[in-house]
This record gives sequence, structure tokens and C-alpha cells, in this order.
Amino acid sequence: MTDETILKAEDLFYSYDDNQTYALNGLSLEIGKGQKVAFMGANGSGKSTFFLCCVGICRPQKGKLYVGGREVNYDKKGLLDLRSKVGIVFQDPDNQLFSASVYQEISFGILNLGVPEEEAKKEVEAVIDYLEITPFRHRPTHALSGGQKKQVSIADILVMHPDIIILDEPAAALDPKHTTMVNHIVDQMTENGITVLMATHDVNYAYEWADEVLLFHEGKILTSGTPEQVFADHEALRHTNLEPPVVLELFQRLTEKGILEASLPVPKNLRALEDAIAAVRWQK
Ligand code: ADP
Repeated sequence: MTDETILKAEDLFYSYDDNQTYALNGLSLEIGKGQKVAFMGANGSGKSTFFLCCVGICRPQKGKLYVGGREVNYDKKGLLDLRSKVGIVFQDPDNQLFSASVYQEISFGILNLGVPEEEAKKEVEAVIDYLEITPFRHRPTHALSGGQKKQVSIADILVMHPDIIILDEPAAALDPKHTTMVNHIVDQMTENGITVLMATHDVNYAYEWADEVLLFHEGKILTSGTPEQVFADHEALRHTNLEPPVVLELFQRLTEKGILEASLPVPKNLRALEDAIAAVRWQK
């Protein structure tokens, strides 16, 4: 992880209805390279609109957006450049998968970027192998299960080696097995230095996973910081209809009751909390 800024938004405004209401309402934020950032906040708070600005589908009417230190240019060349740097995996894979077969689907974007056919083929094979897509690589995309569709939509993006990957509620509509699989893929991405921005309503996952949490409210950031900082801000959580993570709640109650020392490091997950409790019993 470095201190280098990879994405910066300065006072962005975006309206879908000719300036009657604003989906982005003076949004400013800054994200460091290689960070894992959870985008949280009530439905309608502007997370998806910001993501669409980052991939050039929406163009902010006011404000500036910088990717890799350069201001985003929304002309044809600028958009092509943007799409090679920032990839988005939509919440609903059916909005993303257009090609007849899985193999064609994964090849489409990379060929469109102008990568020579032989090189593209190698990249596609590598991502099919990496994401364990081989068993259904020749199937039509419409015949896949929800989890398989998600795998293919992630492959669509990974094959282009973006610097930033945006995941809009990646676990939506997935069963626990496929959620675990997607979480595992996300972990691998971040280990490879990709900056990952994820919209999620899952406070427990965000608390354990993220380096930084951005809390959206009415088109701008209400508060941001480490998960420990943001999830300790009960006022901000109430404002955005979020509950604190279970581990934090339990830890706080156990410290209030004097069962655990408040000076202990705040546990990141239930296993760490269990270990802290076991250590107390051991001391007795
Ligand atoms: P979130 O991703 O946080 O749920 P969105 O960015 O989707 O928030 O929505 C922000 C605001 O923009 C909401 O008021 C929403 O109704 C509005 N909005 C989103 N998409 C559209 C659209 N295609 N047309 C008109 N309004 C939209």
C-alpha cells in the first residue's frame, strides 16, 4: 500500500433531471492506491452514480474527477483510456453480459481495447483458469447460474488489468457459498495491488475487509475514515440507517461489563473476539 492518490473527486455534481435534484451534490473524496474502500450509505445516496462517473457512463455537470493524477476527459480517447484503468462489476450480471458464449464475453472488452488477438487470447485463457471458469467456458451466458454469471462479469473486468475495480454490491443475490467465492476473488485482487471500491450494505464484512469506509448521504460524504472510526460514530450510523458491526457491539458490551479490558485491541472479527475472551478465562 502506498500514499499515492489514485482517485480524487472534487466537488462533483450530477443531476438526472436537469438540475431539479442532485444525485451527487458536491461530492469530494480521495482514495489511495491499493486501498480497499467500502462505499456505504442508504439506497439513493449516490454511490452508483459516482461509480458511473468513474467509468464514464455519467459525466458530472460540475466538479473534477482525477484518475491516476490526471483529470478525466470525457471525449472518445479519454473514455477509452478511462475504461482501461477503471472497471466496474455491476450488481446485476444481466446488465453486463451481452455475448453469446462465456469465452466470447470475456474476450470482447479486451479486443475492444485494441489488444492484439494472440495476446488477448492468452489473457482470456489466464483469467478463465484463475477464476475457475473452465467447466462452463463454452456455455451460453444466459444459461449460467447467478454465481457463475458473477464470476464471468468479474473475469470481463480482470482480463483488462484495470488499476481500479468497482464492485457494486457483489454479494447481492448470491448464496453463502458464492458469496465466499466472490470474497475470495476480491482478496486475491487486493493482494495483487488493485484498488477495490465496493458498495455494500454488509457492515460486518466492511468492518473486517475495508481499509477505509466512506459513508454517503444525499450525494456527498457524511463521514469517512478507518472502519473503527466510522463504525464508532453512532450518530452517523443512525443518520444512514446502519447498525454497528456485531463484533464491535459485543466488544463494547463486554468491556462495559468489565469482562474484557477496554484497553485491549478492538477485535476485527468474531474469532479475534473469541480469542480475547479465551485469554481472560485462561488468566483466571
Ligand atoms: P445508491 O447507489 O447509493 O443507491 P444512486 O446513485 O443509485 O444511489 O441514486 C442517487 C439518486 O439518483 C437517487 O435519488 C436516485 O433515485 C437517482 N437516480 C439514480 N439513477 C437514476 C436514473 N437512471 N434516472 C433518474 N434518477 C436516478
